[in-house]
Amino acid sequence: MFESLTQRLSGTVERLRGRGRLTESNISEAVREVRIALLEADVALPVVQALIQRIKVRALGQEVMRSLSPGQVLVKIVRDELALVMGSQAAELNLNVPAPAVILMAGLQGAGKTTTVAKLAKHLKDKRKKKVMVVSADVYRPAAIEQLQTLAGQVGAVFFPSQASQKPEAIVRAAIDEARKTFADVLIVDTAGRTSIDDAMMAEIKALHAAVNPVETLFVVDSMTGQDAAVTAKHFGEALPLTGVVLTKTDGDARGGAALSVRYITGKPIKFVGVGEKPDGLDVFHPDRAAGRILDMGDVLSLVEQVEAQVDQDKAKKLAEKVAKGKKFDLNDMRDQLEQMQNMGGLSGLMDKLPGVGQLPEHVKQQVTGKEVPRMIAVINSMTKKERRNPDLLNGSRRARVARGSGQTPADVNKVLKQYQQMEKMMGKLGRGGMKGMMRGLSG
Ligand code: GDP
Repeated sequence: MFESLTQRLSGTVERLRGRGRLTESNISEAVREVRIALLEADVALPVVQALIQRIKVRALGQEVMRSLSPGQVLVKIVRDELALVMGSQAAELNLNVPAPAVILMAGLQGAGKTTTVAKLAKHLKDKRKKKVMVVSADVYRPAAIEQLQTLAGQVGAVFFPSQASQKPEAIVRAAIDEARKTFADVLIVDTAGRTSIDDAMMAEIKALHAAVNPVETLFVVDSMTGQDAAVTAKHFGEALPLTGVVLTKTDGDARGGAALSVRYITGKPIKFVGVGEKPDGLDVFHPDRAAGRILDMGDVLSLVEQVEAQVDQDKAKKLAEKVAKGKKFDLNDMRDQLEQMQNMGGLSGLMDKLPGVGQLPEHVKQQVTGKEVPRMIAVINSMTKKERRNPDLLNGSRRARVARGSGQTPADVNKVLKQYQQMEKMMGKLGRGGMKGMMRGLSG
């Protein structure tokens, strides 16, 4: 749901990439770009201001200035702050009350309330192994009651029937009794959609809330309405003690302004996001992961930490010195690097942490990860010392010999040599930047 934000912010990150120390002016410039990106994503102004203020203070502080890869640190700061403004950790549903735990759903008409009741029932049933009953207190639209009945059937929730002639409170009281008798763990109550903030309707849901004392009162709101979603939720929150928000239709929202605004504006966490029309289109909302996705950086930071911790520092230093002196990166060096990769458990563990690469189909990943590394090492081991130092010697007949010796095909040998050429080219480019430059290359 954050595609547009991601796009803009990656432009900002790109411009900082590979820079040495940052100056106050290019930090300010980057912060300005972040601000524009947030405004364009329809994040509410007070949220943008608070975010920018915090990002600026941290970015201009020691943290970034003293760092060797300031662009990266800035990314981390922005990511941390985005996560924080959305609540950091996922907010669980509270079901720790004597059964049945009542969940009251509120929201504007068309927000996706009834659909969400069914999705939530499925979630609680499948993920938390609860017996779930649903009931509709929407006495204004008989069709809404039928819609819920159909959906309940689809997700395997118990449906408690109600009639348009009944009072909402009476319906819910009867449902609670039935839930108790039949040992349902959770009762989810759908309510009438309010088309706007209508006093009579508000009074009704307030009375309903007081009568049934739900442990969770969730406000369902359409993500496509951007920062208005947060404002509507705030109004509801002033009348009803909400415990959380469900943001629907995030699959159609490229901006994410609602997701970023709700928590700050309402003080209530987003507990779930709707990600599709089907009953399984509901995800627990994880602010930290969402923030990570906004910057589309996967887990680059921990990747860098991991690489730094596991690289054989002596060898890395020697290689850096060698490259810095303009000496040729040869197949011995490549073998060293491959061995280090192997020590890290192949690339696959690392690749999953990368945003783009992590998404690749498994068979593509296999080509470049784990299983390839030992084969590549075998190929290099079958070369003579001289060939490793001077790969240009490897003509057709030598390649064929290496293939036989390593039990691989000539195509495998060619692949290794091709990868070698790419690495060699990259090393040449790094020149005096040495290993540190390469780390920076890795870490963006
Ligand atoms: P209610 O009036 O608030 O009860 O809204 P409904 O549950 O009837 O939903 C209104 C429309 O929004 C329906 O067409 C749903 O299929 C659709 N909808 C609800 N949630 C989502 C979602 O997360 N993604 C998408 N794409 N559509 C949704």
